[in-house]
Order: sequence, then structure tokens, then C-alpha cells
Amino acid sequence: MKEFRYIDGAAILKLNEEACVGCGNCVTVCPHRIFALHDKKAGIVDYDACMECGACANNCPVAAIYVNPDDGCGCAAYIINSWISKVTGKRVNMFNN
Ligand code: SF4
Ligand code: SF4
Repeated sequence: MKEFRYIDGAAILKLNEEACVGCGNCVTVCPHRIFALHDKKAGIVDYDACMECGACANNCPVAAIYVNPDDGCGCAAYIINSWISKVTGKRVNMFNN
């Protein structure tokens, strides 16, 4: 999925490197390989490829990652929600609980 990029500088991804415990979950789950581990700490290596899917934040055991499609450009959220709404005929937002 590396070829899918969105708007440069628009993602709202934030990483608290001090809180990171180096589990590697964000590296594993991110479909765009945004993160890399160095010295048991995650770092952002390709910020502008983030599509704000939320998988990293949902799988971080110490809440060191913040990303919320409703606060940013929400490119992926908009596309997915629009598709689901079109198929089901109902307005949905799969990123809201
Ligand atoms: S929100 Fe999705 S695309 Fe962005 S860094 Fe997290 S897992 Fe990767
Ligand atoms: S999921 Fe959280 S704790 Fe684990 S490596 Fe990534 S930022 Fe660090």
C-alpha cells in the first residue's frame, strides 16, 4: 500500500516517544510502514504516508500514539465511510464509538 499517499503535512498523527515501551505493535499493524523501532523506541519515518486509519493507536498498549480521523483530514475515514453509506444507505462513521 506504499503507493497510496494522501495530503502532505495534513495528518494529525502524534507519537509520544517517551511513553513508548518498544512493543512493536505499531510497526506491525501500520499498513503504510510509518513507524520503525530504534533502540526499543518507535519513531515516525514516513509521516506523510499516514492515512489516519487508527490501527496504530488502537494497538498501542500505553496510549503513546494519537490519531483521530475526525480531527485531521480523515482521508481514509471519509472514503471508507462514504463507501459504507452508499452500500447500506445509512450514514455511518466507523471511527466513532
Ligand atoms: S493511523 Fe494507520 S496509516 Fe497512520 S500511522 Fe497509524 S496505522 Fe499507520
Ligand atoms: S505500539 Fe506504542 S508502545 Fe508499542 S512500539 Fe508503538 S508506540 Fe511504542
